[in-house]
Amino acid sequence: MIQPDQIQRPKLILVVDDQEMNRDILGVILGDDYELIYAENGEEALAQMRTHAERLSLVLLDLVMPVMSGFEVMEAARNDPQLRHIPVIVLTAEKSAELEALQMGAADFITKPLDVTEVVLARVGRIIELSEGRQLISAAEYDRLTLLYTRSFFFEYASRLFHFYPETRRDAVVVNIEQFHSINALSGREFGDKVLRLIGDELRSFLSETDGIASRFEADRFDVYCAQQPDYHVLLNRLQESVNRLLPGVSIHLRMGVMPWREGVEPVALFDRAQAACSMLRGDYQNPLMIYDEKMYEKELLNQRLLNDLRPAVDERQFRVFYQPKYDIRCDPPRLSSAEALIRWNHPELGMISPGSFIPLFEGNGLIGVVDAFVWEEAARQIAAWRDKYGFLLPVSVNLSRSDVFDPTLTDRLVKLIETNGLDFKSFKLEVTESAYTDNARELLEVIHNLRERGFEIEMDDFGSGYSSLNMLSDMPIDVLKMDMKFIRNIETSETDRRLVSLILDIAAYLDVSVVAEGVETEGQLAFLREGRCDLVQGYYFSRPLPPEEFEKLIEREIAIERSKTT
Ligand code: C2E
Ligand code: CA
Ligand code: CA
Repeated sequence: MIQPDQIQRPKLILVVDDQEMNRDILGVILGDDYELIYAENGEEALAQMRTHAERLSLVLLDLVMPVMSGFEVMEAARNDPQLRHIPVIVLTAEKSAELEALQMGAADFITKPLDVTEVVLARVGRIIELSEGRQLISAAEYDRLTLLYTRSFFFEYASRLFHFYPETRRDAVVVNIEQFHSINALSGREFGDKVLRLIGDELRSFLSETDGIASRFEADRFDVYCAQQPDYHVLLNRLQESVNRLLPGVSIHLRMGVMPWREGVEPVALFDRAQAACSMLRGDYQNPLMIYDEKMYEKELLNQRLLNDLRPAVDERQFRVFYQPKYDIRCDPPRLSSAEALIRWNHPELGMISPGSFIPLFEGNGLIGVVDAFVWEEAARQIAAWRDKYGFLLPVSVNLSRSDVFDPTLTDRLVKLIETNGLDFKSFKLEVTESAYTDNARELLEVIHNLRERGFEIEMDDFGSGYSSLNMLSDMPIDVLKMDMKFIRNIETSETDRRLVSLILDIAAYLDVSVVAEGVETEGQLAFLREGRCDLVQGYYFSRPLPPEEFEKLIEREIAIERSKTT
């Protein structure tokens, strides 16, 4: 197999000496094995080094030269991040200069008059090999652009710091650039690199004053593991100001998440939370700093707990389905027309938990399917039970989550529920939240289409919460629009909201679908909706979601009203 170095060009060496004879001798000794370039003084040497910084394997450097000495060359190279990795062998006649040269970072020395050929070749070969080995390590250790640690080294060092000094309070800080990809796209990658380098410089300068380490990874994420700071605004402002100076007129926004030291918590876990805090700030320009606090920690623990408790909760039947009525307001008095099934979790230790705090959690990891399947079964069974008890079918709608909609077995499962319980398709309605329609509109369209073909009725939930375009709506085969609660909340006080509600009612009329208004709590809201020809209303004004045994009272009252009409 061919090794990479077998297909490389010969290695490049810069020979710097003001005496032509020395240059010639070195040329003869090294010329067969290496490619050589030459300089006659320090200034030329630096110019050559800069031109060939990427390729240069070694500099052979005379110390005493006109214009600029070898010492000055070494000094300049050491302070230049582009040059500092190039090894230097010093050419010297004076024993006294050797030590000084080594202290300044020379890798080795060769004495003049020049040693025997073999000694020169051996020293040159060894230093190049050594430095390549070291660069291999340092290439992995440092990010080339910012000279901060790379991710794996950073976490290795952070973990050592943590284990050697468990008492020292070091916090995890994550810095991110808002919309970095558009900075790259608008101002060019080179400018983007400049921003990153600048942040790297400022962080290194910060860490020269404070105990800590830093790393860059994933393009624009910087991690800092540093001694606890009294106020992180100071560091954030310092970084922000340095990028502000870069290009007046271009605004670059940084955001920062901090997870403070916590006894026994490993750096990796600290950084997870710092990152979580940082990503919560995405798009929030008013608020660029977030400290992960006790509340977030408790929320995380609670979420963890709820995730663990889901299975036993299903087995032990801690979930219950409540029913909230929908009333038809086109009649007077309004008539009970259907209900929505809403899940409730009666946790043995935490008490009643609202779906708002566990539905989004389970939606995030697919467990929602377990909850929904339970609700659907329960609701289907309940519809059948009420039919048997009261002699008519009261339609109930259930909620579908996004992940349900894209489950290929969905239609079959629903059809089976209808068949086993002997229901009518129209009595088991499906609510699909508006936000699902934007995820994968084409696929969703097909699923909805299939469900309607089978005879199911589809209600678009939370309509107007901000996702769907009118355009999409006209393609969408739906039967009912459920207007988002936020419109109703303020119709008594806000003219704008009243107009929006009227507009939605007009759209629905145009599309020839009926409208359910959700979250109706007052007489005034009801009156406005009635005026605007809204069809159905759901909300606390009529009833909160109720357990089935209490919901039955609403059914019985309805039956009594009907009877009184006919007699
Ligand atoms: P949603 O589907 O929009 O359900 C309506 C929510 O509004 C319910 O909250 C209901 O109790 C509440 N509500 C009804 N009338 C009023 C009112 O007049 N005023 C106010 N302020 N609120 C009212 P709930 O039961 O807490 O459910 C919250 C959300 O959780 C639901 O929003 C739904 O997205 C989700 N959810 C509930 N049950 C299930 C389920 O079985 N499966 C799935 N996937 N999601 C569910
Ligand atoms: Ca709903
Ligand atoms: Ca809703």
